[in-house]
Amino acid sequence: MKKKLNILFVTAEMTPFAKTGGLADVAGSLPKALAELGHDVRVVMPKYRLIKGDFEYIADFPVQLDQSVETCIIRKTEVPYKLKGRKKGLKVYFTDSYRLFDRDGIYGHFDDGERYVFFCKAVLEMLPAIGFKPDVIHCNDWHTGPICLLLREKYTDDKRYNRISTLYTIHNLEYQGHFSSHIINLLNCSYDIFDPEKAEFYGMFNFMKTGLVYSDAISTVSRVYAEEIKTQQYGERLEGLLQRRSEDLYGILNGLDYDKFDPETDKLIEKNFNVSSTGDKKLNKAALQKEMGLPCRDVPLFGLISRLSGQKGLNLVIDRIDEMLSKDIQFVLLGTGDEYYHVRFREITQRYPGKIAIHLGFNPQLAQRIYAGSDMFLMPSRFEPCGLGQLISLRYGTIPVVRATGGLAETITDYSGDPENGNGFSFADFSADAMMDAINRAIHVYVNDPGEWERIVIRAMKQDFSWNSSALKYDELYRHIIDKRING
Ligand code: ADP
Repeated sequence: MKKKLNILFVTAEMTPFAKTGGLADVAGSLPKALAELGHDVRVVMPKYRLIKGDFEYIADFPVQLDQSVETCIIRKTEVPYKLKGRKKGLKVYFTDSYRLFDRDGIYGHFDDGERYVFFCKAVLEMLPAIGFKPDVIHCNDWHTGPICLLLREKYTDDKRYNRISTLYTIHNLEYQGHFSSHIINLLNCSYDIFDPEKAEFYGMFNFMKTGLVYSDAISTVSRVYAEEIKTQQYGERLEGLLQRRSEDLYGILNGLDYDKFDPETDKLIEKNFNVSSTGDKKLNKAALQKEMGLPCRDVPLFGLISRLSGQKGLNLVIDRIDEMLSKDIQFVLLGTGDEYYHVRFREITQRYPGKIAIHLGFNPQLAQRIYAGSDMFLMPSRFEPCGLGQLISLRYGTIPVVRATGGLAETITDYSGDPENGNGFSFADFSADAMMDAINRAIHVYVNDPGEWERIVIRAMKQDFSWNSSALKYDELYRHIIDKRING
C-alpha cells in the first residue's frame, strides 16, 4: 500500500469562508478529494473579518516582520465531508492578526505585501504549534510564493523543515504581487535575493516569482495553460523563467465539487433535474426570467457569470451587444469588478429592457439559478487558466460558448467541428467576429434543431469533470517531488 502523505494546502481564499474566484472553489474541494484518497490534509488561510464563526483557539506566537513583531493567533475549524459514506472533518486553520487582517474585504489594501508576508511566515511558524509535519506544502498563487523562498533561504538548517517539498500552483499568472524591495526587510532576508534569478522583477519584488523560482515543482490548472504561459502572449513577462523550469512544470485540470454542484440536489434552484429529466430545465429558465424581470419566452437565454475584468473578454461582448440583442435572445449577466464594466453594462441594460438583465454584485445563490436556468453560457476569455464556469454549466446542461484558450480549450469540444462529441461551441481568434460566429452557430442549433440541442445537453451533463482523476494526478506529483527531495 502506498504511504499516506501529510499535505498542507495554503491558500488566500477557500469556500465556504472567503471567495473572489475559482481559487476558492479549488481550495474548497481539492483538499477533500485528497483526503478521500487517504491523505492527512490540512488547509491554512488568513482569517479575514468577513469569516465569522466560533473557531477553536489553537496557539499564538510572535511573527517577526523586519524589526517589529506581530502576534499571530491560530484558530481551527473542521469542514464536513464524506469518506466512503462516513462523515469526516477537514481541518482548516486560520492565521489571525488584528492589525493586518481584521478589516473589510479580502485583497486590495495598501499593505497587501506586508499582510501576505505575515501570512507566509505564520504558516511556517505554525507547524510546530499544531504538531503537523507536512511531507509537502502545496502553495497557491502569489500570496503564498514566499513560503517556497523562506524554506530554502531561512530554514535549510532546521531539521523540522528541510525535508518538506513544495508544489507551487499558478491559478492565474496575471496577478503576481509586485511590491517594492521593502518586502525583503519584512522577510528578514538578505538583499542577495533581490536578483533577477531570484525575487527581483523589473525593479520590484515579485511574490509569484519566488514561488516559481524556489518550489520543487510548479503546476497550473490545465495542460493547455501550462503550454501557453511559456509563450510571450500568455507569459506575463515570466515566460523565460517558465521555459527554464519547463521540466518541472505540470498542467493538472481543476475538478469540480460534484456534491456541491449537482442539479439533482441543489437546494438553490427552482426545480431539481438530472440527465433523464432535462425538460425540467425549462422550469428553472422560467423562474430565472421571472426573477430577473425578463419576459417568460422560449428564446435562447445566454448566461454570463464572471469577475468583470479585462481577462474575461467582456469588450468583445460590449462591442457587439447591439448585434447580439437585435436577435430574438435574452441575456443575463452576474458579475462584479472594474467600474468601467459596471458603467457600460448599466447603460446597455437601460437601452435594452426586457432583453438583458444584470446583477452587479457577488451572489453565489443567484449564480446557481443562472447556471440552471440558462441555455448557453458565454465565456469569451482572453485567457483562462482553467475556468470553472464552463464546468458548472456542463453539469447543469447549459451549453458553453467559449474562446478556445487554456482550460476552455481543454474541456470544450466545438460542436461545429465535431458533432459526435461536441459539448459546446468555441472560437479560436480573440475577436468579436469569431465570438459572434460561435454565438450564431449555437443559436442556429437551438432554434432549428431542438432534438439535436437536447442531445448536446445530455452529452454535456454526462461528462465527468469531478476531482476523481485530477486528485490522483496531484497524488502522483506530490510523490514525485517528495522522492526527488529525499533521494535527490
Ligand atoms: P476566476 O477564478 O478567473 O474568477 P473561474 O471560472 O475559475 O474564474 O471561477 C469563477 C468562480 O466564481 C465560479 O465559481 C463562478 O461561478 C464564480 N463567480 C464569479 N463571479 C461571480 C459573482 N459575481 N457572483 C457569484 N459567483 C461568481
